Amino acid sequence: MSAALVMPGGHVASMEQAGEQILRVENLTVSFDGFKAVDNLSLSVERNELRVIIGPNGAGKTTLLDMICGKTKPTAGRVLFNGVDLTRMSEHQIVRAGVGRKFQTPSVYEDLSVLENFEISLPSMHGLFQSLTFRRTPQVRARIEAIADQVFLRDQLDRRAGQLSHGQKQWLEIGMLLMQGPELLLLDEPVAGMSPREREQTGDLLSRIAAGKSVVVIEHDMDFVQRIAHKVTVLHQGKLLSEGSAAEVQADRRVIDVYLGH
Ligand code: ADP
Ligand code: MG
Repeated sequence: MSAALVMPGGHVASMEQAGEQILRVENLTVSFDGFKAVDNLSLSVERNELRVIIGPNGAGKTTLLDMICGKTKPTAGRVLFNGVDLTRMSEHQIVRAGVGRKFQTPSVYEDLSVLENFEISLPSMHGLFQSLTFRRTPQVRARIEAIADQVFLRDQLDRRAGQLSHGQKQWLEIGMLLMQGPELLLLDEPVAGMSPREREQTGDLLSRIAAGKSVVVIEHDMDFVQRIAHKVTVLHQGKLLSEGSAAEVQADRRVIDVYLGH
C-alpha cells in the first residue's frame, strides 16, 4: 500500500522513503518453562530493506519470526508493524495486515498444479461462494503469470507441485506469499537444499522483492548472506550479539567466537 504526504508548497513526498521503519521489535522475550528462547530483543527493519538474521542453532531465530507472525505469543515486549502492535493480533489478522511468513520446510499443495497453488493463495478467495470460476478471470491469470515469471515458474504452471524440485517448491511458496501482496516477507532458510545456481537465482529474486517491500531472511550460508544482505543481525542465546553490514559482523570478534569460527 502506498501513501503520500502533501508537503508545504504542494510538493508530494512518498511515505516509503528510505529510513522509515516498517518493523520494530521492542524488548521481546519468550520463555518456555523458564527458558528464554528470545531474551529482551530489540531491533528494527526499514522499508525496502533486506535484513538477514544469522546465529548458531538454537539462537532463537525461528522463534523470533514465530512471534512476529503471531504463531508464538511473547511473554514480554511487543512487535510494531507500521506502528501497529502485532502481538495483540491473531495470525490471520497479521497476514491481512501485510506480513507474509514462509516456514523452513516448503508447504505447497503437492497434488494441485502450480497454477492452482497460486490461485488458492489469493487472499480474497477464501470466502464463501468463491468457486474456481471466480478465480479464473483474465486479471487473476495475469497476476499469477507475472508472479510465476518472477519466481522462475512461468513454464511450470500446469505441472503438479509434487513433481517440482525442492528448490522450485521453495520458489512456489515465495510466489504464493507474493500473491497475498505483503509489505513484509519473513523467510526461514529459503535456500536450504538448493543448488548453487538456484541460490544465485533466489538471491536475485529476494533483492528484487526488497526493492518494493521489506524482507527478513534467516540464513546460514555466509557467501549468500554477503551477497544479499543490506544489514545483518546476529542472534546468540536469544539476544542480539551484533548488528551491521555483512563485512562488519564477519569481522566482529564475538561473532567469530560463537558462530563463524565453528
Ligand atoms: P534457531 O531457529 O535459531 O535455530 P529456535 O528459535 O528454533 O532456534 O529455538 C531457540 C530455542 O528455543 C531452542 O533451544 C529451542 O529448543 C527452544 N524452543 C523453540 N520453540 C520451543 C517450544 N515451543 N517449547 C520449548 N522450547 C522451544
Ligand atoms: Mg530455525
